[in-house]
Amino acid sequence: MVGNEGEVTPVPNYNPPVGLAEWLSPDLARITAPNPSPMTFRGTNTYLLGAQYIAVIDPGPMDAAHLQAIKEALKPSQQITHILVTHSHLDHSPLATLLAQETGAQIHAFGTHLDGRTSIMTQLAQTGRAHGGEGIDSHFRPDIRLPDGATITSPEWQVTAIWTPGHTANHMCFQWGDVIFSGDHVMGWATSLVSPPDGDLTAFMASCRKLQAYPARTYYPGHGEVIDDPKARLAELIDHRLMRETQILNTVSDRPTNIPSLTRQIYVDTDTALLRAAERNVFAHLIDLAGRGLVEPDGELSVQSHFRSTRKKSA
Ligand SMILES: [Zn+2]
Repeated sequence: MVGNEGEVTPVPNYNPPVGLAEWLSPDLARITAPNPSPMTFRGTNTYLLGAQYIAVIDPGPMDAAHLQAIKEALKPSQQITHILVTHSHLDHSPLATLLAQETGAQIHAFGTHLDGRTSIMTQLAQTGRAHGGEGIDSHFRPDIRLPDGATITSPEWQVTAIWTPGHTANHMCFQWGDVIFSGDHVMGWATSLVSPPDGDLTAFMASCRKLQAYPARTYYPGHGEVIDDPKARLAELIDHRLMRETQILNTVSDRPTNIPSLTRQIYVDTDTALLRAAERNVFAHLIDLAGRGLVEPDGELSVQSHFRSTRKKSA
C-alpha cells in the first residue's frame, strides 16, 4: 500500500518490465512485482543489492511468480544473505517469510506494524477510534530488529537503517553509499498515503526533515522510477503537506465540521474514488493540528469527531 492521497502527480512514462531484473548499476538490480494498481503504480519495486552477497530489499507481495523471478535473477555465483524490509504493508513484506525459508537469510526491519507508534496512535488504535489499517501485514515479524542508525554489513557492502515513521510507524529507509532506498516514504509518482493509526503526519514531516540531513545522489523508491534529485523531491513533499495544512486551517471554522465535509470542501476536483484516501489524509492532518493546539475535536479525538478552529471566532 502506497497511496495516493488523491494528489495530482503527472503519471510519467514509466513502464518497467514485470518480473525481469533490470540492472541499475553493476551491483544493483530492480524487479517489478506483478501487482500494479492505482495504489501501487506499476507494482512494488524489489531491489537486489550486491555482487555476490545479495540483500533483497522489499521482497514484495505473497506471489509465487515474483518469488520465482527473484530466484531466476540470481547468477550462480550469487547468494541471498540478507532480507531488508522498509515497512510491513502487504505489497512489500509478505514474501520475506518464504524467501527467508528458502534461503536461510534473516529478515531485517524496524519491527512489527505495532512498533514505533506514538502514544496517541496507540490509544486511537486500541479504542478503535481511528479506523484505517489499510494494507497492513499484521503477520510480519522480523528476525532482526533494527534500531535507528543500525548498520547491516556483508563482506562487500554496508547499509545504514534510517527510521522514518510517517507512512507507517515501522517504516525505514536504507542508505547505501550515496543512495537511499526510500520505500514508500519518498516516491516520485505520488505522495504517500498517511492513514492513522499506522500513518502519522507529525512523524511523516519529522522524517522528511530527518532525511534532508542525509545527502544522497539518488533515491530508489518502493514504487515508480528512480528519483534523481532527492533534495528537490523532499522539498516538494514538505511544501505539499504545508499547502494542505494551510488549506485545512483556512477551511475549519468556529463551527464544528466533520472530516467528510472538510474533505469535500478542500479536494474539490478530486475523483470520488480517491476521496476516501483524501479523508484519511485530512484526518492525519487534523490529529497533527490538534496536537499543536490549532484545532480541537468535539469530545474524544476520533475519525468521527467534528473539528473546530481554536483561533477563529465568528463576528
Ligand atoms: Zn506502503
